[in-house]
Amino acid sequence: MSILSGVHTPQHKSTKDKQSVLLPIPPEIVIPMSMHIGAPAKPVVLKGDAVKIGQVIGEAQGFVSSEIHSSVSGTVAGIEEIIGAAGTKTQAIRIITDGKQALYEGLRKPAVSCFEEFIAAVRSSGAVGLGGAGFPTDIKLNTEEKLDYLIINGAECEPYITSDTRTMIEDAGDVWKGVEILREFLSIDKFVIGIEDNKPEPIERMRELSAGTQGVSVRVLPHRYPQGGEKVLVYRIAGRIVPEGKLPLDVGVIVINCTTLAHIAKYMETGLPLVSKRVTVDGPAVREPNNVIAPVGSPVSALFDFCGGFKAAPKKIIMGGPMMGIAIPDIETPVTKTTNAVLAFDERHTAIPAETACIRCGRCVMKCPMGLMPVEIETAYRLKKPERLEKLKAGLCMECGCCAYVCPAKRPLVQAMKLSKQSLGDYMKSKSGRGR
Ligand code: SF4
Ligand code: SF4
Repeated sequence: MSILSGVHTPQHKSTKDKQSVLLPIPPEIVIPMSMHIGAPAKPVVLKGDAVKIGQVIGEAQGFVSSEIHSSVSGTVAGIEEIIGAAGTKTQAIRIITDGKQALYEGLRKPAVSCFEEFIAAVRSSGAVGLGGAGFPTDIKLNTEEKLDYLIINGAECEPYITSDTRTMIEDAGDVWKGVEILREFLSIDKFVIGIEDNKPEPIERMRELSAGTQGVSVRVLPHRYPQGGEKVLVYRIAGRIVPEGKLPLDVGVIVINCTTLAHIAKYMETGLPLVSKRVTVDGPAVREPNNVIAPVGSPVSALFDFCGGFKAAPKKIIMGGPMMGIAIPDIETPVTKTTNAVLAFDERHTAIPAETACIRCGRCVMKCPMGLMPVEIETAYRLKKPERLEKLKAGLCMECGCCAYVCPAKRPLVQAMKLSKQSLGDYMKSKSGRGR
């Protein structure tokens, strides 16, 4: 790995000092059964059923999966197939809301007195990696690996997005309670809260809360994209390289997003599972950018309407940040557990410059935080040479987009990296098949 070059992107964090606002309950919401890595949940309600906030409407299927809960009270209008933000089909439950926002009577603060009960509670809370990864948190924490670092990810390095920043300010007490809970149930010596230096208020809050607690520290990181990438953070804070095909766990580290941590703490206090999400609504086409706390399943259109609508016709809507987010074709796409931002860009900000031939300048290589050679990987993919992709370690690519960002020839390098990884995956499968 290179010494984490990365890039300086414009910040555009216009919402960082604004108090979050609550979205009025939309008349209808659509809750996808797949908002996490792993098996989609199975719907356990039927059309016509009455549901309340926090009620399980999708049961986790298998080991790597997550429970889905109703984020509103109302009536199930149907179970349907939708195209999710990632462009894949998923089952979803449509609910007509009744405006009462009644809580499910079965909600209870979990009784937790041992590690097994703690893991069960995290699973019941519906917690997944809320920084965008969506990996079920109970699986991440339920490990027998010897661990010595727990990193709380408060870096939030993508332009525009401030939802974690606002969580560390508005819900600072919950983030800290989350640290205390994890310290109680996990035998890990060092807890480090990693925050970029462009977020002074969260740094101050976390320093105040952790002052005098042995084994917990706040690490101020230079703001440089992709500082919040899991492998980048592990290297930056613990000084360890996560090898290709491995996880931070394999080098003794757990990384957990600060908003996930705050959610776990709230659940332990109230028994209310993950039913709402703080989402940054911003972009040059948005009239009044802000952070909006929305029920999971709310249509993205409702968030933009609540932020004053558009001041210019939106040409592109992105779920997530401009570097790693996904352009969505339908503004009615629902907010999921992992949605941390929705951004709208007008014509002026979406013009795609013409791609020209590579001039072998090497900038993509110098800026790749994983020490890869994007220009070589692109060539190997074009020439259909998967064995070369293996040598070039294309599988390490985290699709951060730094290479494309700096390329003067405007080569579509991220697309090339995604396709290269697919091609390499197919090659590795066929290679292991041949070895049998
Ligand atoms: S997208 Fe992949 S190849 Fe490009 S800079 Fe990021 S990690 Fe490196
Ligand atoms: S940055 Fe672009 S032009 Fe420069 S070497 Fe990489 S692909 Fe070629």
